[in-house]
Formats: sequence, C-alpha cells, structure tokens
Amino acid sequence: MPELPEVERARASIERSALGRRIVVVDDRDTFVCRPHPPGEIASALTGHRLAAAHRRGKAMWLVTEDGPTLGLHLGMSGRIVMDGKPAPRNWDRFALEFEDGGRLALRDKRRLGRAVLEPDLSRVGPDAAEITRTAFRRRIGRGSAPLKARLLDQATLAGVGNLLADETLWRAELSPLRPAGELSEAELDRLRVALRAATRDAIRLGGVHKGRLIAHRRGGGRCPRCGADLIRATVGGRTTWWCPVEQV
Ligand SMILES: [Zn+2]
Repeated sequence: MPELPEVERARASIERSALGRRIVVVDDRDTFVCRPHPPGEIASALTGHRLAAAHRRGKAMWLVTEDGPTLGLHLGMSGRIVMDGKPAPRNWDRFALEFEDGGRLALRDKRRLGRAVLEPDLSRVGPDAAEITRTAFRRRIGRGSAPLKARLLDQATLAGVGNLLADETLWRAELSPLRPAGELSEAELDRLRVALRAATRDAIRLGGVHKGRLIAHRRGGGRCPRCGADLIRATVGGRTTWWCPVEQV
C-alpha cells in the first residue's frame, strides 16, 4: 500500500517528466475513480493546459496547471503513476492524461481505489510527516491516551504514515506501539521524529517502505534484526503490528 515514500516517488517522477507538457486528451471515464465528476468534466477543465507543478502532503498529491485548475491524485491502496508507458490491459489505467507530444501519465490501479478530482480538499490532511517541525510534532503526537501507533496513523494528526512506516519508525526509535501517546517525554517525542524522518528518507531513496530494516522480519518466527529477540505481533490501532518486546518499551 502506498505510503508517503511511494507517493513522493510518484510526485518526483511527475515533476521530472511531466511538467511543461500540454494536455490534449484526458481519460476520465471511470466515474468511481473520478467521483463526483461526471465523465468529461475533468477532461474539459484540463484540456489545453500545461502541467506547472507537482505537490504532495502526506499521501495526497496535486498537480497545478498553468492558467487552469488543480488536479488531485490519490494512489489509494494499490495505485501507481506510470509515465509514458503503453496503456494497461483491462482498464487498469483508471485515469490518464495524454500530452501533445504523444506521451501519457496514467493512474494505474488494479483495485480501483485511487482518486482523481479537481480542486482537492486538503483541509483534513495534517502536516506532512517528513516536514513537520519539532514543536508541532510534540504538540500533535504527544497527547491523549490512544496508543502511539494509532496516533502515528491518524492522517489528520500527521499525514503520510501507513502501517509499515509506523512499525519501522517505532522500531528505530525503540518505542512500544502500545504506549499512550500523551505519556511520552519530550526527549522520546524528539527521538521518534528523528526516527520517522530517517525511515522516510531511506524509504524514498531505496524504493519504498517495504525496504525498511524491520519489514522483512514482520512474519511468523521473525526476530528483531538488532537484538535477535522474537518479535511480537498484535493488532494495534486496527492494524497488524510487529515489534521487539525487549528494546521497544
Ligand atoms: Zn530488539
């Protein structure tokens, strides 16, 4: 499932390859992915405009056009951006832009849970997990009785952290996912933020959250890659969670 690092890689590929290109055709026929827009509405708004910028906050991405509207894209549970590829079979390209030069930007998504929408509403998206300041992180994460992992996953509190990045971050910070978020000291919150930034940076560089140092060990019989203890598995914040009971306290 795409988390912040996967979306950032998608955004960067659009920034590298799509900016400045004029849109001549828009495939917006999938009324579920393009809801609430009827077919043709996104197309008529975007056709003729050039892409000017690609932005991201958390898992939300939006493309700004020159003198035109903003297009929000969400990768959902399994989507990805394919630049200048051939169209996918079985309508797996749920939304696509075609450029004057013959190239193409596709939202490819077998499960059809991505979104394409004009003028996306970002009011309920929290500050980006990779960019949040130390002060804002302490204030937003370090409160309440919810387990720390649930707090990290709350997209209105902090945007971009999904299940794998949360486990990787808590393991790096040596903090238990079960700790009530409001009971962390400032030093622990700062350590958590440093770990989150490092885990995010590594995932962007290496190709995704699945490349995390803990992730390959999140399975039955898995051991902590740092101390060798048997990892524990439980459902925390509604998600399957793995952690090291010796070091993560
Ligand atoms: Zn350990």
